[in-house]
Amino acid sequence: MLADRVVVLGGGFAGLETAFQLRAMVKPTRLHLTVVADRDHFLYRPGLAGLPFGAAEAPLHVPLSAALGRWGITWRLAAVESLDTALQVVRTNRTQPIHYDHLVIATGARVHPQRVPGLAEHAVQISTAGQLHQLGERFQWVAHNAGHGRPQQVLFVVAPDTVWPGPAYEIALTLDTWLRRRQVRHQVRITFVTSERAYGEQLGPGLHRVLAGEFATRGITGDTRLAVTEIGEAHTCFDDGSKLEHDLVVAMPPHAAAMWHDGLPADNRGFLTCRPEDRSVTGLDGVYAPGDAGDFPVKQSFLAMTQGWAVATAIAARVEGRPAAPRFEPTAFCVLDTVDKGILVEAPLTAEGLVRVDHDRVLTGAAWHAAKHALARYVPMRYRRGRPALPRTGHGLLTAARRLLER
Ligand SMILES: Cc1cc2nc3c(=O)[nH]c(=O)nc-3n(C[C@H](O)[C@H](O)[C@H](O)COP(=O)(O)OP(=O)(O)OC[C@H]3O[C@@H](n4cnc5c(N)ncnc54)[C@H](O)[C@@H]3O)c2cc1C
Repeated sequence: MLADRVVVLGGGFAGLETAFQLRAMVKPTRLHLTVVADRDHFLYRPGLAGLPFGAAEAPLHVPLSAALGRWGITWRLAAVESLDTALQVVRTNRTQPIHYDHLVIATGARVHPQRVPGLAEHAVQISTAGQLHQLGERFQWVAHNAGHGRPQQVLFVVAPDTVWPGPAYEIALTLDTWLRRRQVRHQVRITFVTSERAYGEQLGPGLHRVLAGEFATRGITGDTRLAVTEIGEAHTCFDDGSKLEHDLVVAMPPHAAAMWHDGLPADNRGFLTCRPEDRSVTGLDGVYAPGDAGDFPVKQSFLAMTQGWAVATAIAARVEGRPAAPRFEPTAFCVLDTVDKGILVEAPLTAEGLVRVDHDRVLTGAAWHAAKHALARYVPMRYRRGRPALPRTGHGLLTAARRLLER
């Protein structure tokens, strides 16, 4: 019997979790797995928010060639240019066309700073490691100027259509801790303005209450429901006509899909329309879009991994000719680190990505700061070994975490 060809596009959380789960679920003789990505390493993005404050970058990277090679997964470094779902072929900028029986589109989301005039020129963005190192240098200048008695104004802006503003909150709160430890906090005004209706809106009212409390305790001025319209050299404009001055503006830009696929069903930002249960692209047989590439409105690494697990489960069932039990049960699960402590959020979501009323839990404490660091070691370690981060049961990790929460 010929092995089924599974082609995974993307080497992020969703792509690697799908590939490593499939390798663990199905005998190698039944499956030929190929991963195609335009970067030669996996990046553990939840660890990026520590970089401006001196955290090391190297442990966040996992070289893909070695990780995939361990278990005989074929690896292609190439940018995907187009898909032909009728001929079941992927075309890239540097390989022969790649044929598939099952296709996993896990190419994620990408920022679109040009949608806000002035953002690319005048703000420091917080999506890539390079930007976060640059932000670290700017923070050093803020502390230096404050230390010499020159008051500073740092403005954080979350633009509309940002997929996950969590890092902006983490960095703003950590900046407060960092400046206090340098004894210059009193010279720096920190302001946080978001287009969300509530702080951390996607994860429910509990997180809003905790973040509003943190802002009040730390003397951070915050505002919601304000969309940035333009960022200038010394001031930022909002859609209610107001203007704020700044010495440094830190911005989370709008996002859209990293790849646009002509002829595939998608929303107006290019996110692929999927069946909620197994993240298969609607109307297409054997094509899946886990993680940020799909239309699930909440986009986070844990959700990308659980979607990858659900996709692997569905493909494994098809390869082995048994009925699939569709099992993607969305739960947002993340930790915001503020160095002096951590904020853990667990929020079961509906199929539409809404927090189930009264089911969100938010806990704060130093233990969650340690948990964030433990996760930042665990996930890259698993991927370095070519192993999935989630247990085969998928929800086992979450069940264990829940038990911990209930203590
Ligand atoms: C600074 C920052 C901090 C974050 N912190 C957290 C956090 O604390 N907790 C949390 O849960 N989430 C966090 N997130 C969100 C989380 O990182 C994303 O939700 C997650 O990375 C999505 O995984 P993914 O696999 O869908 O996409 P990605 O991780 O973006 O991976 C996409 C992959 O596709 C590849 N690719 C893209 N286009 C092409 C192409 N044309 N051809 C070939 N390959 C292509 C890329 O190279 C990459 O390998 C953070 C995000 C950022 C930016």
